[in-house]
Amino acid sequence: MHPFAYTRATDTREALDAGRRGGRYIAGGTTLVDLMRETVERPESLVDISGLPLREVLVTKEGGLRIGALVRMGEVAAHPAVRAAFPVVSQALELSASAQLRNMATIGGNIMQRTRCTYFRDVTAHCNKREPGSGCAALHGVNRGHAILGTTDHCVATHPSDVAVAFAALEATVHLLGPDGRERTLPFADFLLKPGSTPHHEQALRQGELITAVEIPAHPRPLKSGYLKVRDRQSYEFALTSAAVALHIRGGVVREAKVAAGGVGTVPWKLSEVERHLIGRRPSDALWAAAAEKAADGARPLTHNRFKVALLRRTVERQLRIVGGSK
Ligand code: SF4
Repeated sequence: MHPFAYTRATDTREALDAGRRGGRYIAGGTTLVDLMRETVERPESLVDISGLPLREVLVTKEGGLRIGALVRMGEVAAHPAVRAAFPVVSQALELSASAQLRNMATIGGNIMQRTRCTYFRDVTAHCNKREPGSGCAALHGVNRGHAILGTTDHCVATHPSDVAVAFAALEATVHLLGPDGRERTLPFADFLLKPGSTPHHEQALRQGELITAVEIPAHPRPLKSGYLKVRDRQSYEFALTSAAVALHIRGGVVREAKVAAGGVGTVPWKLSEVERHLIGRRPSDALWAAAAEKAADGARPLTHNRFKVALLRRTVERQLRIVGGSK
């Protein structure tokens, strides 16, 4: 591990000042410390923000949820308001990591976590994300777990977070606070960046900006929701494919549909075509299958992950049936 300076911010102003000077924020540390041990990350200065007052889950006056950036994954999963209104969020968190990690890792850190691409974590391998311009060892290497959507010749790594898939489906927003004291809000879809030709730029964050909260908007119609994760083993494993689905069905018709997929995209992948196909139609097994057919539109599979095309469609179809009912 490379030497680094460590300070513990006692308030938000102190944290932002340190962030402006180039300090890296750390809270649970469950990803960053691992990467520092492997010398993939070499920050010169860490700013511990775990004492800042960002640890509340609030129901907004419109009926949405505002989740403080420092709320632990386990606390969000167990929160009664989250479980009642957005079970897809609770389920995605419960299917993530281990109980020990969920007790440490924060929501802000979760959406900032970096890819599990093995070449990214191997400092002897070529990796444009870790070392811009060095190439991508995964393109012609072992790429079974890599992405089939949103890839470029510069990077084919998946985003590893489960709860980010639920946030993408529910069209959450990310609240940010800059060192100049200015607040801004980004749609979740704009917060995480696709690789393009600069895969080392992963989030639309400005220098020193702090994530303060993730907000799930109120939905005028109550949504029935859930998360399905397909992986090689049943615990402590990342998704090969996953599906976050939220539906409102009334009068025998799908009135609202929110669908996103994980394990297949360079960012959590919103399935807008699947959603459009569902709206205004009568729920049936045939509808779920026809909508899910569109889930892999535009996919560019690699040598070892062609199976993800069919697996993605089946994962989405199955989760639509679980949430919408078999008819
Ligand atoms: Fe690096 Fe992305 Fe290629 Fe993996 S897929 S080696 S993270 S550039």
